[in-house]
Amino acid sequence: MKFETLAIHDGQAPDPYTGSVTVPVYQASTFERESLEHRGEFFYSRIGNPTRKALESTIALLENGRYGLAFASGVAATMAALQVVKPGEHIVASNDIYGGSYRIFEQLLRPWGVSTTYAASEATESYEACITPATKLIWIETPSNPLLQLSDVRALAALAKERGILLAVDNTFLSPYFQRPLELGADIVVHSTTKYLGGHSDVIGGAVVTSDSALHTTIKNYQAAAGAIPAPWDCWLILRGLKTLKIRMKEHEANAFHLAALLEQHPAVERVFYPGLPSHPQHELAKQQMSGYGGMVTFALKGGLPAVEQLVAKIKLFVLADSLGGVESLIASPAIMTLGALSKEERQRRKCTDNLIRLSVGLENAEDLEADLLNALTCGYDT
Ligand SMILES: *Cc1c(COP(=O)(O)O)cnc(C)c1O
Repeated sequence: MKFETLAIHDGQAPDPYTGSVTVPVYQASTFERESLEHRGEFFYSRIGNPTRKALESTIALLENGRYGLAFASGVAATMAALQVVKPGEHIVASNDIYGGSYRIFEQLLRPWGVSTTYAASEATESYEACITPATKLIWIETPSNPLLQLSDVRALAALAKERGILLAVDNTFLSPYFQRPLELGADIVVHSTTKYLGGHSDVIGGAVVTSDSALHTTIKNYQAAAGAIPAPWDCWLILRGLKTLKIRMKEHEANAFHLAALLEQHPAVERVFYPGLPSHPQHELAKQQMSGYGGMVTFALKGGLPAVEQLVAKIKLFVLADSLGGVESLIASPAIMTLGALSKEERQRRKCTDNLIRLSVGLENAEDLEADLLNALTCGYDT
């Protein structure tokens, strides 16, 4: 079956008890045992819950993986996936990654004896150069945040296999509708379901998918033991979001494409970063490993931070807020907001300059978004 059919039907059969066409919210902490010796599939909701199970199987199917696990947040999913690495081992991560993942590598893992080296996101040979005998895992995010650089998933999967190490991909920015890293050879996929999978800016969640049963067991045991599980109601909200993932992603992309092309022609704009534009340095790779370019657009303004301040003050439809992937358009300054916790040197190393603007393009009418953006861009900034 095709993607949108799986999103609506699989893992979500009508409720056998009532016939309800939506999976019920099983708001229960515990389940009756059959006897002292025998218990059913569900016995305590930290270990397993029917609503969570429906979400976990649907996400696994959409990523074309065998096992899905849902978490209370994207960072909880990240932390769980990273349990495949043990103290004394080493990670090679992309340079341009989500700030919260960087915080996990530096503030949580390093003191526990797991070190991380950062490679240039777009250069396979840079990852190769960072590998040591202690390396256990390559961790990438593609397209990256905020510069929307790509990592070559097939090439890195081949490199990882050759060196006997694992490849994990944070697939939050594209969702499985536009990119399925397991099909490209990755071992683990991680999501912040807060973003496109939930899709409505009303829930925090995360997920891990793998097809390897040993990896699944390690991560599942951590989920059960550390307990960062999502509530049944949150699972239900994400399941509801998943059913419209295809149509939302197509619209996010159409609107993002429209604005990216417009911005590229605009005199106030220094540079646009969008993998769908032929000017993107990795546009060819984008066509090979993605089936669409997503709804995120980053651009650099000519006027530096003052121009950024003017734009966000003037813009109306785009809400000034962290996060992404919801139906409403959001605007953010990566330097001040999403990566604001990093030191200036760290931001410089990541080429996250003060003049960047990141848009999460929503599902509003493209002409309304265009008018709002043009109005805010031309507001008196001298180009
Ligand atoms: C938001 C985000 C995360 C973290 O997810 P939370 O749900 O906020 O914990 C991880 N990776 C990427 C790429 C993200 O955008």
